[in-house]
Amino acid sequence: MSTEKPRILTGDTPTGKLHLGHYVGSVENRLALQDQFDCYFLIANKHAFTTRSDQPDEIRQSVIDIAMDWLAVGIDPNRSAMFIQSEVPAIDELTFFFAMLIPFNRVMRNPTLSQEIKDKELGDKYPFGFPMYAVGQCADILAFRPQLVPVGEDQLPHLELTREVARKFNQLYCGVDPQTDDKDYIKAGGLLPIIEPKLGRVKRLVGLGAPSSDGKLLKMSKSLNNAIFLSDDADTVQKKVMGMYTDPKRIRATDPGETDPEKNPLWAFHETFNNDAAWVDEHRDLYKNGKVGDVAVKRKLVEVLNTLIDPIRTRRKHYEQRPDEVIDVLKAGTAKANAVAEETLHLAKKAMRQDYFSRKLVIV
Ligand code: ATP
Ligand code: MG
Repeated sequence: MSTEKPRILTGDTPTGKLHLGHYVGSVENRLALQDQFDCYFLIANKHAFTTRSDQPDEIRQSVIDIAMDWLAVGIDPNRSAMFIQSEVPAIDELTFFFAMLIPFNRVMRNPTLSQEIKDKELGDKYPFGFPMYAVGQCADILAFRPQLVPVGEDQLPHLELTREVARKFNQLYCGVDPQTDDKDYIKAGGLLPIIEPKLGRVKRLVGLGAPSSDGKLLKMSKSLNNAIFLSDDADTVQKKVMGMYTDPKRIRATDPGETDPEKNPLWAFHETFNNDAAWVDEHRDLYKNGKVGDVAVKRKLVEVLNTLIDPIRTRRKHYEQRPDEVIDVLKAGTAKANAVAEETLHLAKKAMRQDYFSRKLVIV
């Protein structure tokens, strides 16, 4: 039975549609692991409110968009539970208890939070709930007691926090010795696994734009207006690629060009998505030596990306015409997710000596 397989938990924030960074950072892994694992994919709608509480309609639309994108890339709703975070109340309840296990300053030292504050230009105006989402994410994950968490590199600090919370919980409430090896926590009587991240083929895909003030190319992100979406039509892909940042010092095709993927997204994209390694090697050399223009290399990239995205677009069209089907998928997935999360909460309360009554949660 599928429930006897080890579990996976991962998810996306509904701040927009899925992009190529999601594809190589996490979605490819989700597709590959659907058979071996019992998969739970979360749409983190509450986390979208950390930066967009004034845009509830947009968040609602993005929830549906993310679900459609998942179905379009080939996530199979019969095998994998796709669910809405706000409709799994056990996550909130665990968040509150977990927030007591981690010092405030430890949360604020999380480098992903600092980076997001910088990249999203939040300054000191971010709400109280913004840093809280890092603790919430520990609960998103641990509510499912998963073995693996497929994510991009930016999520590693969050996962480290999750591991710390789990160790602390198990030590305090399950009597696990602090000297225990991470892999042995459950064997030693712990409730919450010390989870392992599973990074994608590309840990951090860069965006289409110029580097930030520190000279580093920004990560492709829904919020930074530098993404190619899996739902972009062929013309949009073409426009975005033809207008992307490359080597600013290269005025003519005969000028030598920068081919370092850390500095020129054009080469980061070819290395990631172009399966024709011989073409890439040959043209990287030509580009470096001023023998091929940006336009030709970009045209090839348009072709490569549209070949990848075409079947995704076709499947997405199917669901765009059937929004009710998408809601049904989310409803079934959320019911399945609640069954696991309620069980974890019950066991957690029992460990914390707060199990006064039992309860049953129903989605109607
Ligand atoms: P936002 O801008 O709202 O933070 P995002 O584009 O960063 O959105 P998330 O929903 O925060 O997307 O991330 C979902 C998952 O996709 C995470 O596991 C994250 O690590 C991964 N991911 C996002 N962007 C990239 C990227 N550019 N390269 C690799 N993985 C990525
Ligand atoms: Mg993000």
